Amino acid sequence: MPVRFVIVGGGPAGVNAATHAARLGAEVALVERDVMGGAANLWDCIPSKAMIATGGVMSLVRRAPAMGLTDPDARLDFDALRHRIPAITGHLERAWTELLRSQGVRVVAGTGRMKGPHQVVVDTAGGLVELDGDAVLLSTGSRPRVPDWAEVDGERILTTRQAYPPPELPEHLIVVGSGVTGVEFTHMFRSFGAKVTLIVSRQQVLPGKDPEVAAALEDDFLRTGVVLYKGARAKAIERAAGGVVVHCDDGRQARGTHVLLAVGSLPNSEGLGLEAAGVDVDGRGYVPVNQHCQSSVAHIYAAGDLSGRLPLASVGMMQGRKVAEHVMGLHTRQHRHLDYDKAASAIFTEPEIADVGLAEAEAFAMGRKIRVTKVPFAASARALIEGDPRGFVKIISDPATGVVLGGSIVGQNASELISVLALAVTANLKVTDIVESLLVHPALAEALADAAE
Ligand SMILES: Cc1cc2nc3c(=O)[nH]c(=O)nc-3n(C[C@H](O)[C@H](O)[C@H](O)COP(=O)(O)OP(=O)(O)OC[C@H]3O[C@@H](n4cnc5c(N)ncnc54)[C@H](O)[C@@H]3O)c2cc1C
Repeated sequence: MPVRFVIVGGGPAGVNAATHAARLGAEVALVERDVMGGAANLWDCIPSKAMIATGGVMSLVRRAPAMGLTDPDARLDFDALRHRIPAITGHLERAWTELLRSQGVRVVAGTGRMKGPHQVVVDTAGGLVELDGDAVLLSTGSRPRVPDWAEVDGERILTTRQAYPPPELPEHLIVVGSGVTGVEFTHMFRSFGAKVTLIVSRQQVLPGKDPEVAAALEDDFLRTGVVLYKGARAKAIERAAGGVVVHCDDGRQARGTHVLLAVGSLPNSEGLGLEAAGVDVDGRGYVPVNQHCQSSVAHIYAAGDLSGRLPLASVGMMQGRKVAEHVMGLHTRQHRHLDYDKAASAIFTEPEIADVGLAEAEAFAMGRKIRVTKVPFAASARALIEGDPRGFVKIISDPATGVVLGGSIVGQNASELISVLALAVTANLKVTDIVESLLVHPALAEALADAAE
């Protein structure tokens, strides 16, 4: 008898678990109440990056005179942008659905919940469907948090769920929250030509990131005319004629046409029947998991945002794979556990920001000896050719062994270039492995070799 594996939630974590487990021989049923590909496809990763890509082309056009071009022009066609996003997400949804079908995964459209430790009941358009699983994965994701002092109206007061694209292009957007989502939206709408005010509750955008990296982004925001309200916490939003006023706790008021709330997320764990299955949740509603993504009930797993670990689609996908392997009993041959400290991440601003592994500040806090080497893109032939020499590469290595421990990249294509450092960190490569790689010339990646020197 094949292993029966039931998955609730078809985001990056659920889809990857489903296809991998099916490939390994499990009988898989995947329950999804909305769109295959999850919030990642519908509202988060894909639409945001599609909008940022359009803004990126507009920035390129603005730089065109410096590249020897005359009369450059690019005006935003908002309707064309509105059509582009569903075209991309629809394409991806169809691709995932076809992949699942080709792997023999049973897709059940409806809302699932645990009825008992091995039973999932699904509310479908045709009535209730009951699924029995030897193992169950809960991968129901998360949704934007709305603070109790704000009321989202979908017109002028928005979360990221209403912003792809928003009902109209904001003339002046106020972004509340300067984490990854807040700074990406700030960059996105500024590149479209909107005025943007960013409310930053601390003294630095991207709290927790390397201060040098955050400073590079702040400089760019200020250069492009973004207004930063540092050290201010929003505490109320008022609808005013033709716009909104955001009141901050230090007495300042930000006036704009629209406000976007980017103040974190909440797990989708209500109504999942976790009590019926005996699954523990923490005080915030996340399902705590061990290194195999098992919940407090060994055959019930949680992956993706619901597990309360790093809320990244890339991490959810890898968790999904690992869960599939564990369910199929392959983990004993799998030497490598998921190491969240080695996850690469990127922020799609301009310049892009990406990092992986140990950060400089973290090493100092731990009292760990490190070697830090840094090279600016201003010394890169390719960056100069491309007309954008902003940013730098920083590599952190062990001074005794030369093993690469981490790194940060600020600059064009940082989200791609970080893959080299991610591989080095995961495979315990040494700086000499990077230095002695025969790279392409001229290429931005040469800056990595120079920084590793
Ligand atoms: C604006 C924004 C941009 C982002 N950009 C990036 C990025 O560039 N790169 C990156 O790696 N991460 C990014 N993230 C994070 C990423 O979107 C999440 O980490 C990822 O979506 C989590 O995947 P998941 O599989 O846990 O859940 P989700 O993608 O949230 O999917 C969960 C699915 O479960 C379904 N579901 C929920 N409850 C039920 C139920 N009871 N029954 C049936 N189905 C159910 C939902 O309909 C949904 O389809 C971004 C996040 C935001 C907010």
